[in-house]
Amino acid sequence: MTFQIPKGLFDIIPYPETEAWKLSKNWQYVESVIKKLCLDYNYLEIRTPIFEKTDLFLRGVGESSDIASKELYTFEDKAKRLMSLRPEGTACVMRAFIENKMAFDRKIHKLYYIGPMFRYDRPQKGRYRQHHQFGIECIGSNNYKYDAEVIDMLLSLFNRLKIKNLKLLINSIGDFESRENYKNALLKFLKPKENLLSQDSKDRLIKNPLRILDSKDKSDQEIIKEAPVILDFLTKEAKDRFNSLLSLLDDLKIKYKIDHKLVRGLDYYDDTVFEIIRDDLGAQNSLGGGGRYNKLLKSLKGEDLPGIGFACGIERVIQTLIDQEIEINQLDSLFLYIIPLTDKSLEYTFKLTKELRDHLVPTEVEKDITKLPKALSNASKLKAQYALIIGDDEINNKKALLKNLATREQKTISFDKLKIFLNDLYHKI
Ligand code: AMP
Repeated sequence: MTFQIPKGLFDIIPYPETEAWKLSKNWQYVESVIKKLCLDYNYLEIRTPIFEKTDLFLRGVGESSDIASKELYTFEDKAKRLMSLRPEGTACVMRAFIENKMAFDRKIHKLYYIGPMFRYDRPQKGRYRQHHQFGIECIGSNNYKYDAEVIDMLLSLFNRLKIKNLKLLINSIGDFESRENYKNALLKFLKPKENLLSQDSKDRLIKNPLRILDSKDKSDQEIIKEAPVILDFLTKEAKDRFNSLLSLLDDLKIKYKIDHKLVRGLDYYDDTVFEIIRDDLGAQNSLGGGGRYNKLLKSLKGEDLPGIGFACGIERVIQTLIDQEIEINQLDSLFLYIIPLTDKSLEYTFKLTKELRDHLVPTEVEKDITKLPKALSNASKLKAQYALIIGDDEINNKKALLKNLATREQKTISFDKLKIFLNDLYHKI
């Protein structure tokens, strides 16, 4: 029997190039753009474990959400404690923030993470049981300028990656009072139509009516079209805040569409919610989204600090780059392939290779004597930029032959200048 990867998972591999979105060089490229973005926006990395006590997710994500109620990968450890693979990053970051007493170090905390998340969902293109997220959390201020900065940051990522056809959807779910008023109005509207709702929505009517707004069920959606909209129920304060944010986005020339159905149906979410979707795709079109969570930290028994964040799916970002045929910048690849032609040169080339690597020049060497055409084709397969050929003549004359594998130009270089020459050649590229 051969082993197969469990359903809904995938490998990230360097080759073969059959499915470009799985190629590790594409992942490295996107991750390098993310890391530079975080540096530019002053975000620092946080890494938390991939599993936590199950309770953290039930409280931190909310028991009524699909992620916590249906999709958790939960197991008992040997001491019969319930653990779950993390389905998202925010609850983990909050737990780490509280436990490591990070609040006392500074006023504003700008944290980012990149890592795998696990959800037991029905797999399909763009939806996996292990997927990867880049996320940020900005803790410590309720100033709407942070909301604008966070939204701008996610859009900047997509701009830097040259992704096109995106739409920013935005909404405000106001403060607690706004939502209570809205919930009452929504219930009043939905109650008479209860029989027409899907079973999921019927359940949510009791547990969390706001979440009915993002139901994917066709007949639910028909009903919701006529439902009251939350913006009409915002308190003056919440409305002013939302308007200030929108005019700041206008100043930054960030285009948005207000989407009344966009809600985060969890009690500790406040005010701003947003999502960036692909306009050229129907299903699984969300590349990332986020919102403000002013009561989350406190609800997890932490400090009473407000926050805002987003999470973005890396698989979907890479698939978008491929779908939109966007050129993916090649990061560092193999620079030099050294080819010894005789026993005498084998010893010299092996040592030379180590010295070049010590000087940070990416180098590979043939370990066996191989015929020159075969060795050159090995070098091309590895996409090396140069080949360095050394046989008995070269050893006797203390000179090596350097071949540019793209232009086919050749040049001889004496052994005493070799290391400096190759070093310079590589580092000035
Ligand atoms: P969420 O925490 O559900 O808001 O997800 C944040 C982002 O992660 C989404 O916008 C997607 O890009 C991505 N994402 C969520 N679930 C999955 C999944 N099962 N497979 C792949 N990407 C996902």
